[in-house]
Amino acid sequence: MLAQAENYLQKYFGYTSFRPGQKEIIQNILGQTNTLGILPTGGGKSICFQIPALVLPGTAIVISPLISLMKDQVDALNLAGIPAAFINSTLSSYEYQHIVAGVQNGEYKLVYVAPERFGSMAFLELLNDIPISAIVFDEAHCISQWGHDFRPSYRSVVAELNNLNQKPVIAALTATATRDVADDIRRLLSIEEENTFITGFARENLSFHVMKGVNKRDFILQTIKKHKNEAGIIYTSSRKETDQLYQFLKGKNCSAAKYHAGLKEEERKEAQDAFVYDESEIMVATNAFGMGIDKSNVRYVIHYNLPRNVEAYYQEAGRAGRDGTDSICYLLFAPQDIQLQKFLIEESSLDPQKIDQEYSKLKDMVNYCHTEKCLQSYIIEYFDEDAESIQCGKCSSCLDERKSIDITQEALMIFSCIKRMGERFGVTLTAQVLKGSNNKRIREMNFNKLSTFGLMKNRKEKEIADMINYLLAEDYLILTDGKYPTVKLSAKAVPVLKGQKRIYMKINEPGPVQETEENNELFEMLRKLRKKISDEENVPPFVVFADTALKEMSR
Ligand code: ADP
Ligand code: MG
Ligand code: ZN
Repeated sequence: MLAQAENYLQKYFGYTSFRPGQKEIIQNILGQTNTLGILPTGGGKSICFQIPALVLPGTAIVISPLISLMKDQVDALNLAGIPAAFINSTLSSYEYQHIVAGVQNGEYKLVYVAPERFGSMAFLELLNDIPISAIVFDEAHCISQWGHDFRPSYRSVVAELNNLNQKPVIAALTATATRDVADDIRRLLSIEEENTFITGFARENLSFHVMKGVNKRDFILQTIKKHKNEAGIIYTSSRKETDQLYQFLKGKNCSAAKYHAGLKEEERKEAQDAFVYDESEIMVATNAFGMGIDKSNVRYVIHYNLPRNVEAYYQEAGRAGRDGTDSICYLLFAPQDIQLQKFLIEESSLDPQKIDQEYSKLKDMVNYCHTEKCLQSYIIEYFDEDAESIQCGKCSSCLDERKSIDITQEALMIFSCIKRMGERFGVTLTAQVLKGSNNKRIREMNFNKLSTFGLMKNRKEKEIADMINYLLAEDYLILTDGKYPTVKLSAKAVPVLKGQKRIYMKINEPGPVQETEENNELFEMLRKLRKKISDEENVPPFVVFADTALKEMSR
């Protein structure tokens, strides 16, 4: 049977060899063993079930989450000379009758259906009437509530399968490999752990970059210019932002299309086709765009906003370079996007446990933006704790040649300043006060009278803001919720204030502040602050003791 599989790979798909994982998965399914295949986006999951469907007698039923995706896959199969059809709500009653008759006559090797179809008696009867070669769960993570795209209807299919009077082999395919999700899929679909096939998650042709503090629109225009005549996707986290960015790019005469769930079906179809067939170079979209879309020559993916978790990020960014050619993934990081994601999480669920879990995933995503570790390695280790650390050599962390420097002194200055400003202001204003910017707002608030005003005047305002953001990412500081988030000190700052812990960060020159004649007053203050804190026998509640410490400093 394997020889036949290899023959079909060539005959129908025109490929000479299998990609990693494909052969093992196909062999397993052909042997009638329930199988879970975990391959990265673009790894070639479709063939893993399409070839067994061709080899085995009967019809394979493929459960697929998106209607648009089914049509594309079925069209592609028909073009390749493979008899396939789909059954979903877009069919007219005439088409439906026609296809059902075809299914009854065993005319199709594959039939794609939406999971909701399993709620129909007529459909279940149809399944009992025909020999089924396999039941396939494409995008199988949709079955798990730990996945990033849970669909209750996916899960309902499981119960219906048990009522069928035949027990076909089950194949589940996904790009999501977190342990929770994989466990869930295996449990629900009765797949043994040893019948799970995971291929390496590294996407060697992709380079990952986190861009901080860039002007997002300028950055996008530059990137588009650099990739003239090449395809790129820009993801935003809201429909409104997609609309606005699309308008902006149109105003700059860029060849762009847009896609989000608020558009009419025809508009979405038109945009998708324009992009897939290279009529529009740039697709501006929400995360509604892309699942199952097989466009291989996407050269870059830009995330305009912070994605909500690493799974979603890797799946979306992974749409770059499916043809194996070098491609780039940029994430444009701005701390206020964290608030936006928190808001979306709050909106998305009422289940407090689920919300907590989403928050914790968001935190891993934020940490990705501030880690100094290789970004490809960070992602792989996120999915597989046992994975070995690598250095991809081309991500923004690997390319960051700056040295890690002890920034404990500057962290203390930042902590003091935040405290002096009453913990009621955001990153920008705090950075301006530390820089000693003499602007109107600062004068109005009398912040130019603070002892911390201009404490860090040897640095650029942006560098100070970067440090504050780094301290936020490392949890020494917290950003409050709300429309105008403010920076506060967290409990993790205490050991730093007490001199028990030092903080390191990769920063630009000048390196850490050195004690000189000019600033020895400042160092004296810092010494007193530290002494005061270590002298405290019983550490009082943090806020109180920071206040005391700061009084000491401003004396
Ligand atoms: P995904 O894993 O994201 O579902 P697809 O099944 O859509 O990926 O496949 C991604 C691309 O890889 C498609 O263009 C497909 O034709 C191609 N592909 C799949 N298997 C092979 C192979 N063995 N050799 C070469 N290209 C392949
Ligand atoms: Mg797929
Ligand atoms: Zn790297």
